[in-house]
Amino acid sequence: MAENCIFCKIIGGEIPSNTIYEDEEFKVILDISPASKGHALILPKQHYANIYDLPEDLAAKAMILAKKLAGHMTEKLQCDGFNLVQNNGEVAGQTVFHFHLHLIPRYKEGDNRDLLIWNQLQYKEGETEELVKLLTL
Ligand code: AMP
Ligand code: ZN
Repeated sequence: MAENCIFCKIIGGEIPSNTIYEDEEFKVILDISPASKGHALILPKQHYANIYDLPEDLAAKAMILAKKLAGHMTEKLQCDGFNLVQNNGEVAGQTVFHFHLHLIPRYKEGDNRDLLIWNQLQYKEGETEELVKLLTL
């Protein structure tokens, strides 16, 4: 448990939460300030600040759990779509520095349409080739 981490405190039971799933490695809670009805967070029980620190096996398990919950929540909430969101670093919008994966149900009716809309940029000539050279793994 990391000191002063609100999610560690939730996992430890020090701070209450609305839990919808729990196993040995994860707790899934409702987000306190939801982007949509049913917005939930997958929290690994062990403290890892972000995707860079998260061990690969937990990353894989978090995605398998996200798939399971996406299906389950879509059926129960009768939502029309689903976003998985995961922020790393302040500049990327991370506010709680304990890895978490957002599960965000989306609705045809009454949804905040521009919940995740960003301005679309355009690459300059040659930029994509440079990026492919730089990033090819
Ligand atoms: P992020 O901006 O990706 O770090 O997301 C942090 C999320 O945690 C936000 O959506 C907050 O609404 C949510 N959050 C913060 N405190 C709590 C809490 N005590 N219980 C449930 N969700 C929380
Ligand atoms: Zn923590």
